[in-house]
Amino acid sequence: MVVIGGGFAGASFARAVKREDPGIAVALVEPRTHYTACPLSNAVIAGMRDMSAQHFGYAGIEADGIVHVPQKAVRVEADQRRVVLADEVRLSYDRLIVAPGIDLRFDAIPGYDAAAVEQMPHAWKAGEQTLLLRRQLEAMADGGLVVISAPANPFRCPPGPYERASLIAHYLQAHKPRSKILILDAKDAFSKQRLFEAGWAALYPGMIEWVGLSFGGGVTGVDPATRTVRTEFGEHRAAVANVIPPQRAGAIADIAGVADRTGWCPIDPVSFESRLVPNVHVIGDAAIGGAMPKSAFTANAQAKACASAVVALLHGRNPGEPKLINTCYSLLAPDYGISIAGVYSPRDGLLAEVEGAGGTSPLDATGAERAEEATFGAAWFDTITTEAFG
Ligand code: FAD
Repeated sequence: MVVIGGGFAGASFARAVKREDPGIAVALVEPRTHYTACPLSNAVIAGMRDMSAQHFGYAGIEADGIVHVPQKAVRVEADQRRVVLADEVRLSYDRLIVAPGIDLRFDAIPGYDAAAVEQMPHAWKAGEQTLLLRRQLEAMADGGLVVISAPANPFRCPPGPYERASLIAHYLQAHKPRSKILILDAKDAFSKQRLFEAGWAALYPGMIEWVGLSFGGGVTGVDPATRTVRTEFGEHRAAVANVIPPQRAGAIADIAGVADRTGWCPIDPVSFESRLVPNVHVIGDAAIGGAMPKSAFTANAQAKACASAVVALLHGRNPGEPKLINTCYSLLAPDYGISIAGVYSPRDGLLAEVEGAGGTSPLDATGAERAEEATFGAAWFDTITTEAFG
């Protein structure tokens, strides 16, 4: 098996296959020598957490007998079942797993191109961008305006922009209390909205303003030089502008022919096999096929279900129908956590939410319960990173 991408999806998949059948040879193609995790990176932006806590190496994976190939995959020769690496070496596969995460769309917001990220960081792939946004917040004067632009669905981590606004508010309240945060949104509703809004009113009264699409939240263009963000109704000059643009599956998905016109990869909900190219499976953020949100929790759950399916297929068995769980924790302050959970199973060719099986934290939770959820979120991060990389 060849796996493209050593993030939550690809790393979890490689390990799950080895657990199910140690006899299967697995190559994990990932150019980076260490992975930088996005979950909890909003806490790095807020100065609550050190960036080093986001880094994970591949030694644990290699100890499991998985070969880490430190190369970028540049092409897939699906007819010959081969992956071509940047150095032109070819890897043959019986089954290929494509798990490249997302790419940011630099053709979606006029003015927001690849160069604009230096002035207006997206910080939607953790790493240097995360630190840049942190530095900009540190350099900002008290009383400045922070603009966050959030994309329409689907995108990586639906509650992420709102967790980010919360934790930036936490930082500003302590260090630059006259500052404001404006969220310009390309949609009219967002994940855990009532919980976030109740938390903002309680923790950061008057500091965060959210403007949905119908009220002019859609960003129509940006000017990176002046950090100006334009909407249909006017323009906002930001001290710090965090533009989170629309996204699509990582470029190799398109090159391999598994992405469709939406930019995402349609899959069979039982085996995660591509609807477009046989013997190629897509998991994690790059895949689309129903209601599952794009999260690290989802990527890990899909990886394990896909591993079972692929091992079954290799042994000539039919894969069983999976039931997948997702839970997304968000922090509004160090001791204030909220969550949303869902269960998903195949229905009508898609991964559909099982009705009545999920839910969110209660709106009227006590402070102690919010604090407990914050510790659950931290424990979840330790568990998932240990499972994928530890
Ligand atoms: P990635 O983690 O992006 O991994 C993809 C890997 O593929 C990368 O390592 C990349 O280098 C590699 N790759 C790409 N192209 C190639 C190629 N051509 N050849 C070889 N390798 C390649 N999720 C949660 O569950 N909980 C949270 O609290 C949470 N918080 C978040 C907060 C923020 C601010 C953000 C931005 C995201 C958050 N997420 C959270 C979402 C989570 O980070 C993603 O959903 C998750 O990383 C998806 O995993 P993936 O493996 O599909 O993609």
